[in-house]
Amino acid sequence: MDIASDSLDVGGGGASLGQGSPSGHAAPPVARTFLDSLIDAGILIPTGVDGIYGRSRVYEAIAEGMDALITEIGADQQAEMMRFPPTTPRNDFEDSEYLKSFPQLAGIVHSFCGNDHEHFRLVARLERGEDWTDQLRPTRVVLTPAACYPVYPVLARRGPLPPEGRVVDVFSYCFRHEPSIEPTRMQMFRMREYVRLGTPEQILAFRQMWIERGQKLADDLEVPHTLDLANDPFFGRGGKLVADNQRDLKLKFELLIPVNDGAPPTACMSFNYHVDHFSTVWPLRTADGEKAHTGCAAFGIDRLTLALLRNHGLDLSGWPRGVRALLGGI
Ligand code: AMP
Ligand code: ZN
Repeated sequence: MDIASDSLDVGGGGASLGQGSPSGHAAPPVARTFLDSLIDAGILIPTGVDGIYGRSRVYEAIAEGMDALITEIGADQQAEMMRFPPTTPRNDFEDSEYLKSFPQLAGIVHSFCGNDHEHFRLVARLERGEDWTDQLRPTRVVLTPAACYPVYPVLARRGPLPPEGRVVDVFSYCFRHEPSIEPTRMQMFRMREYVRLGTPEQILAFRQMWIERGQKLADDLEVPHTLDLANDPFFGRGGKLVADNQRDLKLKFELLIPVNDGAPPTACMSFNYHVDHFSTVWPLRTADGEKAHTGCAAFGIDRLTLALLRNHGLDLSGWPRGVRALLGGI
């Protein structure tokens, strides 16, 4: 999709006035995008990097209300709560095979690990405006790409699952290297998930239940929405086959809400069945010693926040009262 043509003000200060023409006539004003209006209203704070924004009090109030609402919806799940910093150990990340599937999205933390001499070279290169980044080395941490990633190796180390399997409640800032001027495609964003580990029947029943809960949530938030089969953005030519297979097996569904200017609706929640992928790379076993299957219901907290702002307006006083009440009386 081409939203670049809508906006001259990519990641900038927000003003999108037409430039004066050489003949002295004002050029027609450039259409303002949703991103422009969020920045103008001070709701998102541009940093100069596409997809990395600061957030205002209003934005955070909506995001926190959304997270609390999802906690309420999942209160019956007896989920074990786990909160990790937004990093995953690099060895677990390597085992997960993320780099096979999505190398284009990965974020590996690098640091300077050299001696005085190498430090001198680093600073000299910086001062000369030369490339200095080859002076860094990968550390033992990567940025978490989806909130559920740190969970599987941790649970595998605990031994077999109990007979009823497990539900885990996770929340994390996630990183994906996909800079974009669509405000909904951020490089760092928050994801809340309920993760299910157990038998195939348990995972499929869990996923269906969360699809229905997700649809009810969107109804309650009074936003238009549709559910659709989806695939993850597997890299390369080989990735196309994997994505087609994911669709054929109906492993991923997304709940879509219109958010961006002139673009198809945006995936704000996803409902995933990973089959036995994570028990192939880690020894995750059911109580019977079978390979555990896994699935997750993922809520994009930032996308849901933007979906509400898009559909109900940037001024909270104009929002439906019921929606404000649901989000904790914002
Ligand atoms: P996924 O693992 O791709 O299904 O992502 C789960 C949810 O995270 C999506 O449904 C979105 O709501 C959210 N999400 C994914 N990528 C981004 C992004 N680049 N920026 C903001 N939210 C995202
Ligand atoms: Zn997940």
